Amino acid sequence: MSNSGHLAGKTALVTGSTSGIGLAIATALAGAGANVILNGFGDAGQIEAIRAKLASENGVEARYFGADMTKETDIAAMISAVEAEFGAIDVLVNNAGVQHVAPIDEFPVDKWNLILALNLSAAFHAIRLALPAMKKKGWGRIISTASAHALVASPYKVAYVAAKHGIAGLTKTVALEVAQAGITVNAICPGYVWTPLVEKQIPDTMKARGMTEEQVKKDVLLAAQPTKEFVTTEEIAGLALFLTTDAARNITGALQVIDGGWTAA
Ligand code: NAD
Repeated sequence: MSNSGHLAGKTALVTGSTSGIGLAIATALAGAGANVILNGFGDAGQIEAIRAKLASENGVEARYFGADMTKETDIAAMISAVEAEFGAIDVLVNNAGVQHVAPIDEFPVDKWNLILALNLSAAFHAIRLALPAMKKKGWGRIISTASAHALVASPYKVAYVAAKHGIAGLTKTVALEVAQAGITVNAICPGYVWTPLVEKQIPDTMKARGMTEEQVKKDVLLAAQPTKEFVTTEEIAGLALFLTTDAARNITGALQVIDGGWTAA
C-alpha cells in the first residue's frame, strides 16, 4: 500500500511517542504519509506492535529508537542513524516530557535536573542536530509540545513551568533564525489532556493540596479549563498535522494554545 498524503516521502521524528500525545501525533503524521521514528520508554513487545501497525496501516516506514532524551549522546546517535537511513528529519516533534509536583522548598533537586534536561534541553539538542540537514533541503517543520504552562504558572510545578516557559523562548528564537530557510518552528500549548502524565501527578497533588482524587480532577485540573473538558490527544495531533501543511507555512514562532480557554481567563 502506498500513501499519497502531503507528507509522503518525508520523515518525522516524534520524541516520547510510545504513549499519549506523542503517539497520537506520530499516528497522524504516518496517516499523512510520513515515515515515522518512534521514541520513548515502555514494554518492548507493545512498542513493536505499535511500530508494526503504524507501518502496515499507513504504507510508511516506521522505526523505533529507545534514546534517553536526557542524554545528549543518545540524542546525537539517534539523529545520526535516522539521517543515515532517511537523509533528513523533515518534521521534528519535541514531545517527550515528565512532571513532578511538590512545593519548591521540598522539590527534589534530581527531579529539577531531570525535568530541565528532558522537557527543555532535549529540544535544544534535537533542534541543533537536526537543523543542518533540514536547511540543506530548504524545508522543515519543528514542533514542540509545550503546555499552557509555557504561558502561565500553577503552584507546585516549578521545574515544569520553568522548562515549558523555556520552550517558548527556544521556539521563538529558532523561528527567527530560520525564518527564511523554509522551516517553521512552533510550540503547541495544550491544557490538561488525559494521559499517563496527568494520571501520575494525581497522588502527589492530593498530598500537596490535601485533596481527594475527585477534588483534584474537578478543583485543580478542570478548574483551569472553562470548557470543563480534557483536551484529547487526537485534537492535539490534528493541530500538529496542520502545522506541517503548506497552508501553515507562515505560522512560525507561535505558541499555539489548545487549552479549552484556560489562558483566556
Ligand atoms: P505520557 O506520559 O503519555 O508520554 C510521555 C512520553 O515521554 C512517553 O512516550 C515516555 O516514554 C516518554 N519519555 C519519558 N521519559 C523519557 C526519556 N528520558 N527519554 C525519552 N522519552 C521519554 O505524557 P503526555 O501527556 O503524552 O506528554 C507528552 C508531552 O505533552 C509532554 O512534553 C508534556 O509535558 C506535554 N503536555 C501534556 C499535557 C497533559 O495534560 N497530558 C498538557 C500539556 C503538555
